[in-house]
Amino acid sequence: MRSYTRKLVESALELGLPPYIVLDCLLPVAISARKASSFVCGVTDNPDFEDSIRKMEEGHLKNISPLQDFGFKVGLGAQPSTHGFELSGKIYFYREDAGGSLEKMNDDFSKAYADMRQGKPNQILCDGIITEGQFLGFPECCTIECASDEKAHMEMLAKRGKLGVRPVGLSLDEENRLRQRLGNQFRPVFGNDFPEAYMSVNRMLGEKSKVLRSYFAYSFYPCKPGCIDAVNVGERILAALHEESPELAELYEKTVLPANVISLYSKCVYSPGISPKRILGIADDTIAQAINDII
Ligand SMILES: [Zn+2]
Repeated sequence: MRSYTRKLVESALELGLPPYIVLDCLLPVAISARKASSFVCGVTDNPDFEDSIRKMEEGHLKNISPLQDFGFKVGLGAQPSTHGFELSGKIYFYREDAGGSLEKMNDDFSKAYADMRQGKPNQILCDGIITEGQFLGFPECCTIECASDEKAHMEMLAKRGKLGVRPVGLSLDEENRLRQRLGNQFRPVFGNDFPEAYMSVNRMLGEKSKVLRSYFAYSFYPCKPGCIDAVNVGERILAALHEESPELAELYEKTVLPANVISLYSKCVYSPGISPKRILGIADDTIAQAINDII
C-alpha cells in the first residue's frame, strides 16, 4: 500500500470518519477509482435551503475539510426527501474532473424543495437527480430509472395532498416508489426476511458475486440487481483497491458490498428491527478491527 493511502486512512479515522465511509466513499475517490462519492451527514426539516446548507457546513463539513490536503475536494449538498418535507445533507468527496457540478445540483434541489414544501411537484427534482448521478459517476440507465421513480412518486403524493407534509399515515402505495420497485426486485433474489437475506448475500460472494458488485455505493440504486454498467463500476473499484492491497479489496467485498445491498433491502421490505444504521454499524466494527493490520 502506498504511504499516501496509509496516511489518508489514518487521518480520516483520526478526524472521526466512520471506517465504513472511509472504505465506501473516501478511498475510491482518493485512489481515482471514482471521480466523486457521497454520504448522508444529516437530515433537517428546515424550510430554508440556504440556511440548512450553512448550518451543515458548520456542523459537519468543517470537521473533515482537512482531508482536502490529500488532493481532492470535500463539499456539501442537500437533497429533498421523497416526500418533499425534509432535506438530506450530503458530504461529497470529488475530483476536479467529476462530471456535472455541485453548485448546479444544489441550485436544482433548492428550487425543487421550495415547490415541494408547498405541495407542488417540480420537474427540476429529476434534473437534480440526473446531475447528481453524472457527478457521482452512476450509470445512466440506473440514474434515469431513479429519476423517473421519484417523479412518479412526487406527482402521486401531490395528487393526494401529501407532498411537502410530514409523512405520517401513508398507505403502502404512498411509500417511496423506488423502494417498492427495489422490494419487488429483491424478494426473488434474497427472500423475504433479513436472516435469509444476509445468508443469501454471503452465498453470493461465491458464484453470484458479480450481482453484488452492482451495489458499489451506499444509497446507489441500480436499475436492476446486477446491472452490467453498475457491475463494471464495482469491479473498477475492486481492481483499484486490489492494486493498493489485496486484503483491502477483500475487506471491501466482504463488508461494504453486503452492507450496501442489505441496507437498501432493509429499506424496501420493512424488516422489523433491522435498520440501515445497525447494518452499517456491523460493517464499521468489522472494518475497524481489520484496517489497522492492513495499513
Ligand atoms: Zn443500470
